[in-house]
Amino acid sequence: MSERVIPLIDQRLKARAAVVPTTPIAATGLLGDALGRPLRDLRISVTDRCNFRCSYCMPKSIFDKDYPYLPHSALLSFEEITRIARQFVAHGVQKIRLTGGEPLLRKNIEILIEQLAALRTTEGRPLDITLTTNGSLLERKARDLKAAGLRRVTVSLDGLDDAVFRAMNDVDFPVADVLRGIEAAREAGLGPVKINMVVKRGTNEHEILPMARHFKGTGAVLRFIEYMDVGATNGWRMDEVMPSAEVVRHIHQELPLVQLEPSAPGETAERWGYADGSGEIGVISSVTQAFCRDCNRARLSTEGKLYLCLFATQGHDLKPLVRGGASDAELASAIAAIWQGRDDRYSELRASMPPDQSTGGRRIEMSYIGG
Ligand code: SF4
Repeated sequence: MSERVIPLIDQRLKARAAVVPTTPIAATGLLGDALGRPLRDLRISVTDRCNFRCSYCMPKSIFDKDYPYLPHSALLSFEEITRIARQFVAHGVQKIRLTGGEPLLRKNIEILIEQLAALRTTEGRPLDITLTTNGSLLERKARDLKAAGLRRVTVSLDGLDDAVFRAMNDVDFPVADVLRGIEAAREAGLGPVKINMVVKRGTNEHEILPMARHFKGTGAVLRFIEYMDVGATNGWRMDEVMPSAEVVRHIHQELPLVQLEPSAPGETAERWGYADGSGEIGVISSVTQAFCRDCNRARLSTEGKLYLCLFATQGHDLKPLVRGGASDAELASAIAAIWQGRDDRYSELRASMPPDQSTGGRRIEMSYIGG
């Protein structure tokens, strides 16, 4: 078995300063990138910290007490985040997902949600504001999040077996607390709750059917995510990927499934319904069935860097403009110029490469820009 190599170069520092184009680009709500993909979905990381150490995202051996986490002073304030989000909404964004690290670790996040919930799409509709969490703090916070204007939550849960779950989060956190958090979210009206399970062959594939049986008929939508080569620290190998097609076959043998139509353009999950009508599951297949052609997602890091792909190797720093006196129109114009130049399609390119070979360049960490 080959030795896992984990380099320690801080990719966050490699970002171009965003510039205001000489010819202003007005916000029309119809901004397209170089491949004609509209800007519809903004993922905002509100912290680079997490209280879990999932090996496929934030391995403990790297993200230990000496890891250089961002100081609070480097983070964007809620007002700055909302100001930047307002420009994205003017360009056509309709959905905002709050991520991290673990977003519920960011103090008073309800205040940010209230500010974002006051924004309106170019058609005058409320934004679809959602949040991805590991569920560890959800039981305590669900009601306040709902009251602040959060619409839905997605909870990461990689197994029901307590020993498996504790091993995967690598901080010995009990699964029961997350299940109570999911229940609290459902009761608070943050549904339909989506559950994300990363399937890593050799680690938790035996939890697929227990998870499906548990959430079937509850209204929650369970999604199985192929283990991805995100960042540069998780030691990813292709032989630990369980293709989604195999996951679907595995479930179908016991719980018959029928394929469903996508519910929205750019949706990452392929939908499958239980043949008896008792709910649905999803599979997210970034490795074996790339979905870059419809990718309408931008990512903003917690200190103001814009990334155009989950597998990006470089960002665009918006903070100098935000704190340097640029007007909203100038900020919007700079964002438009960045998006118009976007031609990212990492997963498609990966598919054409030999296994375990990357496209070169060190990828940014998922724990920093959110999943
Ligand atoms: S690999 Fe990049 S471009 Fe492709 S779907 Fe994922 S985020 Fe979008």
